[in-house]
Parts: sequence; C-alpha cells; structure tokens
Amino acid sequence: MNSFSFRRYGPPIRPFRGGWAIVPFKGEKAHYWESRRDPEYGTDAIVKGVHYQFWVSRCGIEAATSSEVAAQERGDVPQCKNCLRRVNQ
Ligand SMILES: [Zn+2]
Repeated sequence: MNSFSFRRYGPPIRPFRGGWAIVPFKGEKAHYWESRRDPEYGTDAIVKGVHYQFWVSRCGIEAATSSEVAAQERGDVPQCKNCLRRVNQ
C-alpha cells in the first residue's frame, strides 16, 4: 500500500525579508532565500499596482514574491538539502 504524506505550509510571511520559506510554484521544499537584484527592476518593484520582490535561494533558484503571491512559513515541509549545506558553511 502506498503512503501519501500530506505537507502543510505555514501562513504567509508579510513582510518577507528572506530566510527559510516556501515560495509558491518553486518546488516542494523550503529554500533559504536572499534578496536578488534584478537587472531591470532592482530588488523590488511595483508593476501595475503589484509590489514584487526578487529572491535567489542559496541553491540557485530565482524567484519572485508579490503582494498577491506571498512567501509562506515552512510549516512541516522539509528543508532543501543544498540550501542547508550552504547555510551551514
Ligand atoms: Zn534550496
């Protein structure tokens, strides 16, 4: 019989200033996020009334959050092993 493990995300983090979090649509693990400077917009931008912030994880994933798509607390979601290794260095 297959076991299905249900992972619960925590609540949205507002404001999000980086660190361990789930960023929607960026995999099923929590990553360690740091502010990223987008060449066009800088570290954050307001586009058509939506506030975007740009992030890069320690393992190299680029992502954006916005006032509509917020980072979420890790809850019981496992941490990315690549991020963990780099955070602990
Ligand atoms: Zn990661």
